[in-house]
Parts: sequence; C-alpha cells; structure tokens
Amino acid sequence: MTKKGRVFSGARPTGRQHLGNYLGAIRNYVALQAEYDCVYCIVDVHALTTVETTQDLKLNTFEMALDWLAAGIRPDESILFVQSHVPEVMELHTYLSMVTQLGKLTDLPTFKEKIRQQPENINYGLVGYPVLMTADIVLYKSDVVPVGIDQAPHIEFAREIVRSFNYRYDTKALIEPQVKHTEVLKVIGIDGKDKMSKSLNNHIELASTPEETIKRVREMVTDPARQRRTDPGNPDVCNVFTMHKIMSPQVEVDMINTECRIAGIGCVDCKLRFATNLNKHLEPFRAKRAELVSQESYVQDVLHDGGQRARAIAQKTMIEVREAMQLP
Ligand code: SF4
Repeated sequence: MTKKGRVFSGARPTGRQHLGNYLGAIRNYVALQAEYDCVYCIVDVHALTTVETTQDLKLNTFEMALDWLAAGIRPDESILFVQSHVPEVMELHTYLSMVTQLGKLTDLPTFKEKIRQQPENINYGLVGYPVLMTADIVLYKSDVVPVGIDQAPHIEFAREIVRSFNYRYDTKALIEPQVKHTEVLKVIGIDGKDKMSKSLNNHIELASTPEETIKRVREMVTDPARQRRTDPGNPDVCNVFTMHKIMSPQVEVDMINTECRIAGIGCVDCKLRFATNLNKHLEPFRAKRAELVSQESYVQDVLHDGGQRARAIAQKTMIEVREAMQLP
C-alpha cells in the first residue's frame, strides 16, 4: 500500500513505559504505521541535557524499545532506532545552529521553563535543544510530525529554521515538516493531581503484573468529597471514572456514571472493575513482551538494524546539505 509520507517522532529514554506514555503517544505511534512510513527515535542525546548520570541510559533505552515493540511498533515496516547511532544528526545540528538566532532560542518558553527547573545546570545543549530537534526531524526527510496542539509551536519553530537554511543556501535540500495534530491524552496519575509520570511515582507500568496493577489502581485517588461508601459520588471529578471512559465498555461506563451518583457502587468495586479491564487490555502487550524478553538480543538487533536504515537516509540528506552549503 502506498503510504502518505514519512512521520518522525522521538521520545527520551525513560525506561519501562507507563499508562500515560501508552495513551499519550505509543498507541498513536502504532496506529500511524498503517498510513505512513514511520521513523521512531529514542532521543538519548536530548536526555543528556538534563540527566546527571548516564549509568541507566542503556537500560532505559532497551526497556523503552522493548515496550514499544510489545505495544505494536513493527520493525519490519517502521524504523526504530537510537538517536546517537546516527552521528550525522550532530553535524546537521551544527549547521542549523548557524542559521538560528540565539535570542529566539533563549526566548522560548520551553527554555525558560528548563531554567526554572534546573537553575544549577543551564548548559549549552539546553539552549540548542530545538535546533537538535529540528535536525532530528529534517535529517530523515520527514513530512509530518505528530504532536498535540500545545506542541505545535515547536514544529513551527523547526519550520522557521528550515526556511532560514534553505533561504541562506538557496536550496530545497531540507523539507519543512508539517504538523499532524493528534489527540494526545493527558493522563493524570494515581494521585489524581499531576500528569502521570515516573518521577512523581504516580504511574502504572504497562509491564507490571496483574496483581501489581490492581494494587496501584487501589491507590488511585477518587472523588475527594466522597468520604464514606454511603456518600453519593461525582464521577465528573474522579480520575478513576476518566480512566473507565478510556478503557471500559460503554455499558459499564454508563452504569458507573449512574450508580456512583446515588452511592449504588462503591469506590473499591469501581476500581477493581477498572483494574480488571485494564489488565485485560494489557494481556496481549504483556504476552508479547514476555516473548521478546525470551529472545535474547532481539531488541538490540532491531535497534541496530533501525540505526543502519536511518543512517542510510541521513547520509543521503547530508550529501545534499553539504553540496548546498558548498563545503569544500
Ligand atoms: S464510584 Fe468510581 S467514579 Fe465514583 S467516586 Fe468512586 S471511583 Fe470515582
């Protein structure tokens, strides 16, 4: 089947993936494979701008790749690789940095946010982060980048850098990537407050056992006003209900929506129903993951092969780039 174009997306190596990663990104990645040539990158170099030590980098990269594959990334169709395996991206980053104004980079809200988060480590890599991100995208001649609505300005900035480069060197060597708006679900953690994340320890790991999943779901914060089993609840303010709407059959969602409001169902039962549905949903993922774990070195081979295929595209792009720049 003819594909619509090439998609690029990258994510930092965060190790074992959680439900927020799955609903927010991975499931989109899997679906996009039907329509696009997909290039999915584990951006380990980007991670270096914030990590204090690299001792977990290899393991986190491996675990993340394992989860992506178990979730349905098909390495025979898509390219799955590690950013640092294609050194051409560093070269392109350098060239693009020469057509990017420093003031624009330091004005970006994402940079300002990073300064707030790590005032003791405002490194050069942080400033150039959007330039490296642009290099990631354009190196593989990507047509579209799937992002949520709040991420669209990043791609617009990448487009500006590409225009500057193409204008400066009077070339069409680099493609301006288009935004593909995707519904990126913001999944709230089990604390019922913040976005699900490992660092906040409010996550539910995809690879956890059914029993561990039930335990984590039991810890989920519900409608805070519902103190006793006999109190009526309000599902509209309950994260468990939000998750039911994503994971559970409509008939069950409707039942909870009605029964919660009249104290016809208790939170313990409601959570157990969600955990059961979630475990059922994750069954194929967990089976595939167990199979992949048993095939020693399979994941490494996939990443190696993906790196080779990505590099072949990158090297062609860099020939065009160097020619356009008339480098001696
Ligand atoms: S019954 Fe379910 S939806 Fe209602 S407050 Fe409890 S957990 Fe939330």
